[in-house]
Amino acid sequence: MIQHYTLHTHTVGFDGRDSAQAMINCARDMGFDTVGISNHFIVNPIIKESKMYPYAVRAGYSNIYSSSFKEVLSRFIPHYHELNTLAELNPDMKILRGMEVDFFDDPKWRDGFEKVIQELKPDYIIGSAHFVTHNGTLLNTHDWKNADKETQDILLKDYWNNIENAAKSGLFSWLAHLDLPKKVGLGREDKWVETESRAIESIAESKTAIEINTSFYRSFCYEPYPSKRILEMVAQNNVPVLISDDAHETKNIGRHFDEAGQLIRDLNLKVADIKTLTR
Ligand SMILES: [Zn+2]
Ligand SMILES: [Zn+2]
Repeated sequence: MIQHYTLHTHTVGFDGRDSAQAMINCARDMGFDTVGISNHFIVNPIIKESKMYPYAVRAGYSNIYSSSFKEVLSRFIPHYHELNTLAELNPDMKILRGMEVDFFDDPKWRDGFEKVIQELKPDYIIGSAHFVTHNGTLLNTHDWKNADKETQDILLKDYWNNIENAAKSGLFSWLAHLDLPKKVGLGREDKWVETESRAIESIAESKTAIEINTSFYRSFCYEPYPSKRILEMVAQNNVPVLISDDAHETKNIGRHFDEAGQLIRDLNLKVADIKTLTR
């Protein structure tokens, strides 16, 4: 087995489809000895005004969006209690309490975040950027495809800037799905190489790891996040990597780990040590 743990997973009550116990059972059956649950932690005072919010309400996962740290705590305290109980009920498995956090580059956000972390004491924190602030609103990657070309370029620039600052913040165990905008077909042109390479250098300097996220292996584009182009920079800069399935249901657990493992060998990537990823 290329990696004995899976740490990027989502469960029911947030935007996953299966319970934490079901995810643990499935991971055990597949031969993993460690499972981390990392539900979305997205806190911003204007998040409920974003275009994405009413969509999430209709789809039944608006719980992933909080307008205050008080609100996110009201979700994560019972959630972590449940994970503690599951750790006792499943002594053969190591159960970790994680979170996938949207980074917002704002001192007030950071202050609130650090206080909440002291209270929740997560085992690891995944940094991500699903939103970019634009004209006073938050735009989810999904919304970018409808913007004009010029705006898309601004959004992409801001996105990568955000990723760089997330790395420099030193808050995160690793960064998720680096080239997320390719989900809507953006950022693939050669002109982005320089921006990507600057981000990877910042990530290397900050000693943050990155994940090879296998959720993008699709028939039309058979590759993970990030692309091979970025993974080559990751190798050059000696940035440690882990494999994440970003499982939102049991059937996603361990997806494409073999292919990701092959990439690690082919590109001679440095594998992160789980001890340095968790606190
Ligand atoms: Zn994500
Ligand atoms: Zn995720």
